[in-house]
Amino acid sequence: MSDFIGVFEPDLSGNEKLYLTQCIDSGWIGSNGPFVQKLETEFSQYCNQKYGSCVTNGSAALDVAIKAMKDVFDWEDNDEVIIPSFNIISGAQSCIYNNLKPVFVDSEDKTWNIDTSKIEEVITSRTKAIMIVHIYGLPSDVDEILRIAKKYDLKIIEDTAQAHGQEYKGKKCGSFGDVSTFSFYTNKHIACGEGGIVLTSNEKIKEKIDYYKNLCFSSDKFVHQEIGWNLRMSNLQAAVAYAQFEKLDKTIEKKQYIGNIYQKLLKDIPASLSLKNTSYAQNHYWVFGVLIDEKNNLTAKNAIEFLKKENIETRPFFYPMHKQPIFEKLGILDDIKRPVSEMLYEKGFYIPTGLNLTDEKLEYISNKIIKLFS
Ligand SMILES: *Cc1c(COP(=O)(O)O)cnc(C)c1O
Repeated sequence: MSDFIGVFEPDLSGNEKLYLTQCIDSGWIGSNGPFVQKLETEFSQYCNQKYGSCVTNGSAALDVAIKAMKDVFDWEDNDEVIIPSFNIISGAQSCIYNNLKPVFVDSEDKTWNIDTSKIEEVITSRTKAIMIVHIYGLPSDVDEILRIAKKYDLKIIEDTAQAHGQEYKGKKCGSFGDVSTFSFYTNKHIACGEGGIVLTSNEKIKEKIDYYKNLCFSSDKFVHQEIGWNLRMSNLQAAVAYAQFEKLDKTIEKKQYIGNIYQKLLKDIPASLSLKNTSYAQNHYWVFGVLIDEKNNLTAKNAIEFLKKENIETRPFFYPMHKQPIFEKLGILDDIKRPVSEMLYEKGFYIPTGLNLTDEKLEYISNKIIKLFS
């Protein structure tokens, strides 16, 4: 059994094909098609927000969400947004595009989410918002972040790109942000190749998002007061995303099934695994992480090489934001130590959780990981 095992594979066996056919038969392929509207209405309801606005991807969702917030809340250039350092670049990049400064906070070594005890020490008079990012399928400690935000009068941006359908203390992730953003990239729990959505319950923000994502068209068509983007999602993308949304529960169930098997088979290796749960949530295993014990000589790079030779595709953990060459070049970094996110990069990698993985393959992967450590 040496077939190549990819780190992720989507399951498109629901209504994806049917809905795509409907788009083509009806001629509704553009961004004002019915699946875009259905997705905006139903997904925002599902997440307890009033409005949804579909966009081309999860990074664009953050670009336009932050732009809208900056307008509506009168933020100034160089105001600051607090972000976990252990994260994809999208959130920090969106701040920079909007002339805001991302300020990075280290992670906890067990949940890999932002270390909430380190947030207050980076708050300044310029801080305007905290970005919650739920990492790898396990929610951040939302209540603690909301408590700090309230105390310092800060807004919340919730990057929910890895937590569709996830809940914190029984409330949907994506319901906590003044804006909450999602990605529908191929490996996300709702996938349509490329796509995303911004949710908000603030009407002004919703209007701004629709304006900026649509070239800042005004009632006087082709007369523009401002510069925006074209970030409109097509009805074709929304058709696939909507079919995926319909079976989100099944996707989560399969991910948890995979996660539970790995927990069982890998329990004795000298590494910590994605947590099964915290006091406030069950892990949805957007990905399944393996974090090699610090005292073990192996690095994540060694593990990735080894498993590649066994035809198993894996991925390294995030490279910390506070070490990014581009941010150094831009002169936005400080001297604060963030050792946990550096360790996570050094020692962490994630293993296949494709939706079509069989028990046999999960066992094969687990055996090779056990071999790696022997
Ligand atoms: C995937 C992801 C994004 C970016 O989404 P794209 O659709 O790939 O642009 C942003 N934030 C997080 C946390 C992500 O996981």
